[in-house]
Amino acid sequence: MSAKRLLIVEDEQPVREMIGFVLSSAGYEIQEATDAREAQSQIAEDLPDLILLDWMLPGVSGIEYARRLKKEELTREIPIIMLTARVEEEDKVLGLESGADDYITKPFSPRELVARIKAVMRRGTPGGDDEMLVANGLKLDIASHRVTAGEVTLEIGPTEYRLLEFFMAHPERVYSRSQLLDRVWGSNVYVEERTVDVHIRRLRKALEPHGCDNLIQTVRGAGYRFSTRT
Ligand code: CA
Repeated sequence: MSAKRLLIVEDEQPVREMIGFVLSSAGYEIQEATDAREAQSQIAEDLPDLILLDWMLPGVSGIEYARRLKKEELTREIPIIMLTARVEEEDKVLGLESGADDYITKPFSPRELVARIKAVMRRGTPGGDDEMLVANGLKLDIASHRVTAGEVTLEIGPTEYRLLEFFMAHPERVYSRSQLLDRVWGSNVYVEERTVDVHIRRLRKALEPHGCDNLIQTVRGAGYRFSTRT
């Protein structure tokens, strides 16, 4: 298997070089960019497997750029980890709502960074299973990572896909936020429970136009359940 390619978009040279050093030592192939424009030309040359995106960039901000990447057919599936110096909870939620798959707050340790990257990559990798999960006209094809409602293919982010796959494989059972974090995000990941709500909201939004959002049910005081019953 060839080395995974990571694109680092960070305007501060010492930070960019440090991350580049850590990640090439961890066996990744590294591309670097100082802003969104440079990142775009890097992407045009070679599609990365994951993007590390600084929040505070000159010109187009990291948040805005993440939104653009998640809108483009070509780059929609590429996982994004936001690098942020901000610690406020709202900002993190805003970061995730922009389409980022995870965020990491500076300063972070090399170990933490590598662990996050591995976790996000793992989520994006299909299980190699040909199985098809079906519920109320909603079909999830594990091999192709495609979700369809009737004839229509749903636009769905990588984390929402994983969440939906987990739910559809385990219907009619309530899972708490921390259980979902363990099962969908992986137990070695440092993610807050509110992250689950953000992705649940995004998943429902993707399902809503197809009348399937009520399959994801909130169970008060307990968590969430995937159910075809109302
Ligand atoms: Ca910066």
